[in-house]
Amino acid sequence: MLISGGLEEGASSGCLRILTSPELANLRPGAEQKVVFITARVHPGETPSSFVCQGIIDFLVSQHPIAKVLRDHLVFKIAPMLNPDGVYLGNYRCSLMGFDLNRHWANPSPWAHPTLHGVKQLIVQMYNNPKINLEFYIDIHAHSTMMNGFMYGNIFEDEERFQRQAVFPKLLCQNAEDFSYSSTSFNRDAVKAGTGRRFLGGLLNDTSYCYTLEVSFYSYVVGGTTSAVPYTEEAYMKLGRNVARTFLDYYRLNALVERPLAPIPKTRKEKLPLFKCTTQRGQGSSHVGSKPEKRSQTNLKEPTLST
Ligand SMILES: [Zn+2]
Repeated sequence: MLISGGLEEGASSGCLRILTSPELANLRPGAEQKVVFITARVHPGETPSSFVCQGIIDFLVSQHPIAKVLRDHLVFKIAPMLNPDGVYLGNYRCSLMGFDLNRHWANPSPWAHPTLHGVKQLIVQMYNNPKINLEFYIDIHAHSTMMNGFMYGNIFEDEERFQRQAVFPKLLCQNAEDFSYSSTSFNRDAVKAGTGRRFLGGLLNDTSYCYTLEVSFYSYVVGGTTSAVPYTEEAYMKLGRNVARTFLDYYRLNALVERPLAPIPKTRKEKLPLFKCTTQRGQGSSHVGSKPEKRSQTNLKEPTLST
Protein backbone atom coordinates (compact mmCIF):
# COMPACT_ATOMS: atom_id res chain seq x y z
CA MET A 1 0.00 0.00 0.00
CA LEU A 2 1.36 3.35 -0.99
CA ILE A 3 0.17 6.62 0.37
CA SER A 4 1.70 9.45 -1.56
CA GLY A 5 1.19 12.92 -0.20
CA GLY A 6 2.77 15.00 -2.93
CA LEU A 7 1.50 16.45 -6.11
CA GLU A 8 -0.16 14.12 -8.51
CA GLU A 9 1.30 14.39 -11.97
CA GLY A 10 -0.61 16.94 -14.00
CA ALA A 11 -2.30 18.45 -10.97
CA SER A 12 -1.43 21.76 -9.42
CA SER A 13 -3.23 21.03 -6.17
CA GLY A 14 -1.06 20.52 -3.12
CA CYS A 15 -3.85 18.89 -1.13
CA LEU A 16 -4.07 15.59 -2.98
CA ARG A 17 -3.62 12.39 -1.06
CA ILE A 18 -3.66 9.39 -3.33
CA LEU A 19 -4.29 5.89 -2.08
CA THR A 20 -3.28 3.07 -4.33
CA SER A 21 -1.77 -0.36 -4.14
CA PRO A 22 0.94 -1.82 -6.34
CA GLU A 23 -0.56 -5.29 -5.93
CA LEU A 24 -3.94 -4.55 -7.45
CA ALA A 25 -5.25 -7.16 -9.81
CA ASN A 26 -6.67 -4.38 -11.96
CA LEU A 27 -3.30 -2.65 -12.16
CA ARG A 28 -1.82 -5.48 -14.17
CA PRO A 29 -0.73 -4.46 -17.68
CA GLY A 30 -3.71 -4.25 -19.98
CA ALA A 31 -6.28 -4.44 -17.20
CA GLU A 32 -8.83 -1.67 -16.82
CA GLN A 33 -8.59 0.22 -13.56
CA LYS A 34 -11.83 0.83 -11.70
CA VAL A 35 -11.39 4.17 -9.95
CA VAL A 36 -13.37 5.68 -7.08
CA PHE A 37 -12.62 9.39 -6.72
CA ILE A 38 -13.55 11.08 -3.44
CA THR A 39 -13.27 14.75 -2.49
CA ALA A 40 -14.15 16.61 0.71
CA ARG A 41 -14.15 20.02 2.37
CA VAL A 42 -14.72 22.16 -0.71
CA HIS A 43 -16.80 24.20 1.73
CA PRO A 44 -14.38 24.95 4.56
CA GLY A 45 -16.97 25.36 7.30
CA GLU A 46 -18.34 21.85 6.75
CA THR A 47 -16.03 20.12 9.20
CA PRO A 48 -18.09 16.88 9.44
CA SER A 49 -17.07 16.11 5.86
CA SER A 50 -13.47 15.77 7.03
CA PHE A 51 -14.42 13.23 9.69
CA VAL A 52 -16.41 11.20 7.16
CA CYS A 53 -13.45 11.33 4.76
CA GLN A 54 -11.11 10.36 7.62
CA GLY A 55 -13.29 7.32 8.30
CA ILE A 56 -13.07 6.27 4.66
CA ILE A 57 -9.28 6.62 4.61
CA ASP A 58 -8.73 4.92 7.98
CA PHE A 59 -10.80 1.96 6.83
CA LEU A 60 -9.19 1.64 3.42
CA VAL A 61 -5.65 1.59 4.84
CA SER A 62 -6.58 -0.82 7.65
CA GLN A 63 -5.95 -4.55 7.84
CA HIS A 64 -9.68 -5.31 7.79
CA PRO A 65 -10.40 -8.13 5.31
CA ILE A 66 -12.95 -5.98 3.48
CA ALA A 67 -10.41 -3.18 3.11
CA LYS A 68 -7.91 -5.64 1.65
CA VAL A 69 -10.42 -6.88 -0.94
CA LEU A 70 -11.33 -3.31 -1.88
CA ARG A 71 -7.66 -2.40 -2.33
CA ASP A 72 -7.15 -5.47 -4.48
CA HIS A 73 -9.96 -4.62 -6.89
CA LEU A 74 -10.44 -0.88 -6.88
CA VAL A 75 -8.30 2.24 -6.99
CA PHE A 76 -9.31 4.96 -4.54
CA LYS A 77 -8.15 8.49 -5.23
CA ILE A 78 -8.95 10.89 -2.44
CA ALA A 79 -8.56 14.66 -2.20
CA PRO A 80 -9.58 15.23 1.43
CA MET A 81 -9.46 19.03 1.39
CA LEU A 82 -10.39 20.96 -1.76
CA ASN A 83 -10.36 24.35 -0.05
CA PRO A 84 -7.32 24.47 2.29
CA ASP A 85 -6.95 28.25 2.20
CA GLY A 86 -10.59 28.71 3.19
CA VAL A 87 -10.12 26.24 6.05
CA TYR A 88 -6.99 28.06 7.20
CA LEU A 89 -8.80 31.39 7.19
CA GLY A 90 -11.85 30.01 8.99
CA ASN A 91 -14.18 30.80 6.09
CA TYR A 92 -17.52 29.07 6.06
CA ARG A 93 -18.04 28.60 2.34
CA CYS A 94 -15.53 30.51 0.23
CA SER A 95 -11.89 30.31 -0.75
CA LEU A 96 -9.19 32.90 -0.06
CA MET A 97 -10.40 34.91 -3.05
CA GLY A 98 -14.05 34.73 -2.09
CA PHE A 99 -15.14 32.03 -4.52
CA ASP A 100 -17.56 29.24 -3.76
CA LEU A 101 -15.42 26.59 -5.44
CA ASN A 102 -18.37 24.26 -5.81
CA ARG A 103 -19.83 26.58 -8.44
CA HIS A 104 -16.76 26.69 -10.68
CA TRP A 105 -16.25 23.14 -11.90
CA ALA A 106 -17.22 24.06 -15.47
CA ASN A 107 -14.25 26.35 -16.02
CA PRO A 108 -11.88 26.53 -13.05
CA SER A 109 -8.97 28.94 -13.31
CA PRO A 110 -5.47 27.76 -12.32
CA TRP A 111 -4.99 31.21 -10.79
CA ALA A 112 -8.32 31.76 -9.02
CA HIS A 113 -9.31 28.16 -8.22
CA PRO A 114 -6.01 26.21 -8.20
CA THR A 115 -7.10 23.17 -6.18
CA LEU A 116 -10.24 22.74 -8.23
CA HIS A 117 -8.29 23.19 -11.46
CA GLY A 118 -5.76 20.55 -10.40
CA VAL A 119 -8.36 17.98 -9.38
CA LYS A 120 -10.39 18.55 -12.54
CA GLN A 121 -7.27 18.11 -14.67
CA LEU A 122 -6.57 14.81 -12.97
CA ILE A 123 -10.15 13.62 -13.45
CA VAL A 124 -10.16 14.63 -17.13
CA GLN A 125 -6.83 12.82 -17.65
CA MET A 126 -8.32 9.66 -16.18
CA TYR A 127 -11.46 10.07 -18.27
CA ASN A 128 -9.32 10.27 -21.42
CA ASN A 129 -7.25 7.23 -20.46
CA PRO A 130 -8.79 4.12 -22.07
CA LYS A 131 -7.25 1.92 -19.37
CA ILE A 132 -9.09 3.76 -16.60
CA ASN A 133 -12.79 3.66 -15.85
CA LEU A 134 -13.73 6.37 -13.37
CA GLU A 135 -16.81 4.70 -11.93
CA PHE A 136 -17.60 6.83 -8.89
CA TYR A 137 -17.17 10.44 -7.91
CA ILE A 138 -18.30 11.30 -4.37
CA ASP A 139 -18.01 14.83 -2.98
CA ILE A 140 -18.52 15.00 0.79
CA HIS A 141 -20.36 17.93 2.40
CA ALA A 142 -22.21 18.75 5.62
CA HIS A 143 -25.75 20.07 5.82
CA SER A 144 -26.97 22.70 8.25
CA THR A 145 -30.69 21.93 8.31
CA MET A 146 -31.22 18.29 7.29
CA MET A 147 -30.67 15.32 9.57
CA ASN A 148 -28.89 12.03 8.83
CA GLY A 149 -26.55 11.28 6.00
CA PHE A 150 -28.02 11.40 2.50
CA MET A 151 -27.00 11.91 -1.12
CA TYR A 152 -27.75 14.10 -4.09
CA GLY A 153 -27.57 12.47 -7.49
CA ASN A 154 -28.22 13.45 -11.09
CA ILE A 155 -31.20 13.03 -13.36
CA PHE A 156 -30.68 11.18 -16.64
CA GLU A 157 -32.97 10.73 -19.60
CA ASP A 158 -31.97 7.05 -19.65
CA GLU A 159 -34.30 5.48 -17.11
CA GLU A 160 -32.04 2.44 -16.61
CA ARG A 161 -29.07 4.67 -15.82
CA PHE A 162 -31.22 6.67 -13.44
CA GLN A 163 -32.24 3.52 -11.61
CA ARG A 164 -28.67 2.17 -11.55
CA GLN A 165 -27.60 5.42 -9.92
CA ALA A 166 -29.92 4.67 -7.02
CA VAL A 167 -28.21 1.35 -6.24
CA PHE A 168 -25.26 2.71 -4.25
CA PRO A 169 -27.32 4.92 -1.89
CA LYS A 170 -29.76 2.04 -1.36
CA LEU A 171 -26.89 -0.26 -0.41
CA LEU A 172 -25.41 2.40 1.85
CA CYS A 173 -28.80 2.71 3.54
CA GLN A 174 -28.56 -1.00 4.38
CA ASN A 175 -25.08 -0.61 5.85
CA ALA A 176 -25.34 2.66 7.76
CA GLU A 177 -28.07 3.24 10.32
CA ASP A 178 -27.64 7.01 10.04
CA PHE A 179 -27.96 7.15 6.24
CA SER A 180 -31.40 8.07 4.89
CA TYR A 181 -32.47 7.00 1.44
CA SER A 182 -35.72 8.96 1.75
CA SER A 183 -33.72 12.17 2.09
CA THR A 184 -31.62 11.24 -0.95
CA SER A 185 -32.72 13.18 -4.00
CA PHE A 186 -31.89 13.55 -7.68
CA ASN A 187 -31.99 16.90 -9.42
CA ARG A 188 -30.65 19.04 -12.24
CA ASP A 189 -31.35 22.52 -10.93
CA ALA A 190 -29.58 25.27 -12.85
CA VAL A 191 -28.14 26.67 -9.63
CA LYS A 192 -26.21 23.42 -9.11
CA ALA A 193 -24.75 23.34 -12.62
CA GLY A 194 -21.27 24.32 -11.41
CA THR A 195 -21.01 21.67 -8.72
CA GLY A 196 -18.64 18.73 -9.04
CA ARG A 197 -21.45 16.24 -8.98
CA ARG A 198 -23.43 17.98 -11.74
CA PHE A 199 -20.49 18.83 -13.98
CA LEU A 200 -18.82 15.44 -13.80
CA GLY A 201 -22.18 13.71 -14.14
CA GLY A 202 -22.48 15.38 -17.54
CA LEU A 203 -18.88 14.69 -18.53
CA LEU A 204 -18.30 11.07 -17.59
CA ASN A 205 -19.71 8.09 -19.42
CA ASP A 206 -22.94 6.32 -18.60
CA THR A 207 -21.33 3.75 -16.31
CA SER A 208 -20.03 6.49 -13.99
CA TYR A 209 -22.00 7.82 -11.04
CA CYS A 210 -21.47 11.15 -9.32
CA TYR A 211 -22.90 11.95 -5.92
CA THR A 212 -22.81 14.64 -3.30
CA LEU A 213 -22.69 12.92 0.09
CA GLU A 214 -24.23 15.11 2.76
CA VAL A 215 -24.13 14.56 6.49
CA SER A 216 -25.99 16.56 9.11
CA PHE A 217 -24.13 19.04 11.26
CA TYR A 218 -26.31 17.93 14.14
CA SER A 219 -27.98 14.54 14.39
CA TYR A 220 -29.56 11.50 12.84
CA VAL A 221 -32.74 9.53 13.42
CA VAL A 222 -32.57 5.77 13.13
CA GLY A 223 -35.35 4.11 11.15
CA GLY A 224 -38.26 3.05 13.34
CA THR A 225 -37.41 5.59 16.06
CA THR A 226 -38.23 9.23 16.55
CA SER A 227 -35.46 10.52 18.79
CA ALA A 228 -32.54 12.37 17.26
CA VAL A 229 -29.08 11.01 18.04
CA PRO A 230 -26.42 13.73 18.09
CA TYR A 231 -23.52 13.04 15.78
CA THR A 232 -20.08 12.60 17.30
CA GLU A 233 -16.74 12.66 15.54
CA GLU A 234 -16.72 8.87 15.82
CA ALA A 235 -20.20 8.62 14.30
CA TYR A 236 -19.08 10.68 11.32
CA MET A 237 -16.04 8.44 10.85
CA LYS A 238 -18.26 5.37 11.16
CA LEU A 239 -20.37 6.70 8.28
CA GLY A 240 -17.13 7.00 6.31
CA ARG A 241 -16.22 3.39 7.09
CA ASN A 242 -19.70 2.29 5.98
CA VAL A 243 -19.35 4.23 2.73
CA ALA A 244 -16.11 2.37 2.03
CA ARG A 245 -17.52 -1.07 2.84
CA THR A 246 -20.57 -0.43 0.64
CA PHE A 247 -18.32 -0.77 -2.41
CA LEU A 248 -17.91 -4.41 -1.40
CA ASP A 249 -21.64 -4.91 -1.83
CA TYR A 250 -21.86 -2.82 -4.98
CA TYR A 251 -19.19 -4.82 -6.77
CA ARG A 252 -20.41 -8.08 -5.19
CA LEU A 253 -16.99 -8.84 -3.78
CA ASN A 254 -18.41 -10.37 -0.59
CA ALA A 255 -17.36 -13.91 -1.47
CA LEU A 256 -13.72 -12.79 -1.56
CA VAL A 257 -13.60 -11.67 2.07
CA GLU A 258 -11.77 -14.04 4.39
CA ARG A 259 -13.90 -15.30 7.26
CA PRO A 260 -14.39 -14.62 10.08
CA LEU A 261 -14.67 -10.88 9.71
CA ALA A 262 -12.45 -8.86 11.96
CA PRO A 263 -14.00 -5.86 13.70
CA ILE A 264 -13.78 -2.59 11.84
CA PRO A 265 -10.87 -0.80 13.52
CA LYS A 266 -11.50 2.27 15.58
CA THR A 267 -8.67 4.65 15.02
CA ARG A 268 -9.84 7.39 17.33
CA LYS A 269 -11.07 7.25 20.86
CA GLU A 270 -14.86 7.23 20.76
CA LYS A 271 -16.55 10.18 22.38
CA LEU A 272 -19.79 9.45 24.14
CA PRO A 273 -22.78 11.27 22.69
CA LEU A 274 -24.42 13.91 24.79
CA PHE A 275 -27.66 11.95 24.82
CA LYS A 276 -28.36 8.25 25.03
CA CYS A 277 -28.20 6.43 21.71
CA THR A 278 -31.43 4.70 20.85
CA THR A 279 -29.79 1.97 18.79
CA GLN A 280 -26.40 0.32 18.89
CA ARG A 281 -25.00 -1.83 16.13
CA GLY A 282 -22.14 -4.25 16.20
CA GLN A 283 -18.95 -2.90 14.67
CA GLY A 284 -17.87 -6.15 13.08
CA SER A 285 -21.04 -7.82 11.95
CA SER A 286 -22.01 -8.06 8.34
CA HIS A 287 -24.65 -5.45 7.78
CA VAL A 288 -26.03 -6.90 4.60
CA GLY A 289 -29.58 -7.96 5.21
CA SER A 290 -29.33 -7.21 8.92
CA LYS A 291 -31.52 -4.17 8.86
CA PRO A 292 -34.77 -3.51 7.03
CA GLU A 293 -34.54 -0.67 4.61
CA LYS A 294 -35.91 2.36 6.33
CA ARG A 295 -37.61 3.82 3.29
CA SER A 296 -37.92 2.84 -0.30
CA GLN A 297 -39.31 5.74 -2.30
CA THR A 298 -37.11 7.80 -4.55
CA ASN A 299 -37.44 11.41 -3.52
CA LEU A 300 -37.31 13.88 -6.35
CA LYS A 301 -37.71 16.91 -4.13
CA GLU A 302 -34.80 19.17 -3.33
CA PRO A 303 -34.07 19.52 0.39
CA THR A 304 -33.62 23.01 1.69
CA LEU A 305 -30.50 25.05 1.16
CA SER A 306 -27.83 24.54 -1.44
CA THR A 307 -24.63 22.55 -1.01
ZN1 LIG B 1 -21.21 22.06 1.09
